[in-house]
Amino acid sequence: MNIILLGPPGAGKGTQARKLVDERGMIQLSTGDMLRDAMASGSELGLKVAAIMNAGELVTDEIVIGLIEEKLNGDHGGGFIFDGFPRTLPQADALGALLEKHGATLDAVIEMQVDDDALVARITARSTCGNCGEVYNDLSKPIPADGKCANCGASEFKRRADDNEESLRTRLMEYYKKTSPLIGYYYARGDLRSVDGLAEIDEVAGAISAALG
Ligand code: AMP
Repeated sequence: MNIILLGPPGAGKGTQARKLVDERGMIQLSTGDMLRDAMASGSELGLKVAAIMNAGELVTDEIVIGLIEEKLNGDHGGGFIFDGFPRTLPQADALGALLEKHGATLDAVIEMQVDDDALVARITARSTCGNCGEVYNDLSKPIPADGKCANCGASEFKRRADDNEESLRTRLMEYYKKTSPLIGYYYARGDLRSVDGLAEIDEVAGAISAALG
């Protein structure tokens, strides 16, 4: 099964993708994580995208389509969760073509609905484990009192460089201008399922599971 998690920054796509990986053996493909890895490694790609990402703008379609294409050539495991991709109509078209080339289908697009005020609060309170990437939030899922990641026991946590109010404003604008048209695109294709992204993490996971059948 191949699915897309669609929603604005802070909707909980990464958190839910990780649950699906654990529960269904699916493979999470997050273009944001791939680009952050490129930045951390200091590669040519990383240097090229750093300023764009930190400002909260979208990198070019060509770059992210190339990253996804590479992954689709590898192991398909229990299916892919596309997290943060596609973000534009050309990316959505490219994904359709790539899946077809691999004889694969897109089985569902889960739209995670949240309101903008909640996003600002969520994103400015967010951190991740520096070792395994587990997502924490000062408000809804704080780092355990012993200072150790509940998933892997590591004790280093990081905040994303683009998780600040100014960059978030740009990221939201990019979402509404370029990504939200995908809701109509996938609705028209009969692939869209919408869930309330503001519910508790496990409730959202339950709604996603029900939507996937
Ligand atoms: P994310 O981790 O999904 O919030 O992505 C972080 C940043 O990476 C975005 O604000 C963009 O700068 C860049 N990015 C990630 N995925 C894409 C994509 N599909 N298209 C364009 N830019 C992307």
